[in-house]
Amino acid sequence: MTATSTLASASLKIQPRILLGPGPSIVPPRVLAAMGQPVVGHLDPQFAAVMDHTQELLRQVFETANHLTFPISATGSGGMEAALFNVLEPGDEAIVAVAGYFGNRLHEIATRSGARIHRLDKPWGEIFETQEIADALKVHPNARLVAIVHGETSTGMLQPLQEIGALCRSQDRLFLVDAVASLGGTPLPVDAWQIDVCYSGSQKCLSAPPGLAPITFGPRAEAKLRGRKSKVQSWYFDAAALSTYWTLGEGRRAYHHTAPISMVYALHEALAMAMEEGHAARFERHRDASAALHAGMTELGFRPFGREGYRMPMLTGFLLPPGLDDASTRKRLLDDYGIEVAAALGEMSGKMWRVGLMGASATRENVAALLAALDEILGSGGAGAKAGANVSA
Ligand SMILES: *Cc1c(COP(=O)(O)O)cnc(C)c1O
Repeated sequence: MTATSTLASASLKIQPRILLGPGPSIVPPRVLAAMGQPVVGHLDPQFAAVMDHTQELLRQVFETANHLTFPISATGSGGMEAALFNVLEPGDEAIVAVAGYFGNRLHEIATRSGARIHRLDKPWGEIFETQEIADALKVHPNARLVAIVHGETSTGMLQPLQEIGALCRSQDRLFLVDAVASLGGTPLPVDAWQIDVCYSGSQKCLSAPPGLAPITFGPRAEAKLRGRKSKVQSWYFDAAALSTYWTLGEGRRAYHHTAPISMVYALHEALAMAMEEGHAARFERHRDASAALHAGMTELGFRPFGREGYRMPMLTGFLLPPGLDDASTRKRLLDDYGIEVAAALGEMSGKMWRVGLMGASATRENVAALLAALDEILGSGGAGAKAGANVSA
């Protein structure tokens, strides 16, 4: 047989994994099944109904009344570009708060907008105090916008947002939040917390495949983007142009780019599942799984990274016990147990793992599987699994 004929006859066969990294998370069968529905045209009335319902579900998940709420055809980083590029232009000033790898990406993209960006740094594992943002706004009184990451996936920290939102609103500055890792796993009421621009990703706590970035622009952000002096730097991510497709409604939708039909089906189904479960139950499930994980990992000699009291439930950085080899242990987890955990990024690389409990992955069963596997690998006689099981909900 030639190489060509082997390829031609080969169908994909992918082994399922227990995905306990920083995304993608486990995609439920119902979401995968939705992707198998017939592909129709992007202006088909059937698809228009799916779009309308998806937007309504997105508003419920973001807890917002924002009209300009829709998924960007890109992963979370595309949502980041869309958010920043639409509300920043040359002549603007903005503050970007950085306490990890994704804060750094936020800063990098912001600098490409042509606006003057003031970077505020904190060490990895820290969060920003409201006073620190207030001080920075005094130093840079012309900054029109503050950008920050909610769940910093490189460190496991959860940045408090509510007070910073109130501060920005009281001074008439826009507040832009990266919620790629956090949306769907922990409270994020966009309107109540006075967030003007917020975006996420489909593959983290929403548990759809990677490929869409939900985004929402509040009235103040919309006023800014509709009143721009210059064109948005990106044609593809121009929210005003995208809104002609997403928000004009029945019979008036205009082609911008071909919507990724099957991915919108998937997001629709994932959002419907999130709302059927309900915010409170879903957030509690993430907290409960996280408590069991922390108990078991601590028993095995891992130490949670970062400032106490500010860790997020959906991803924890665990410092490795002395003597444990990073890469070979993760390889054994994947090869022998089908479990994926992630290496650390940047300055924490080699010293830490990032263990995710995002969306459908956030269950006690998945935590128990990881702890039992680590018990075997480390020869700890079941100590980790026992500690994890003993946590009361
Ligand atoms: C994953 C992630 C991103 C980037 O998302 P991609 O889908 O990988 O492009 C951005 N910010 C945070 C906080 C993330 O966790």
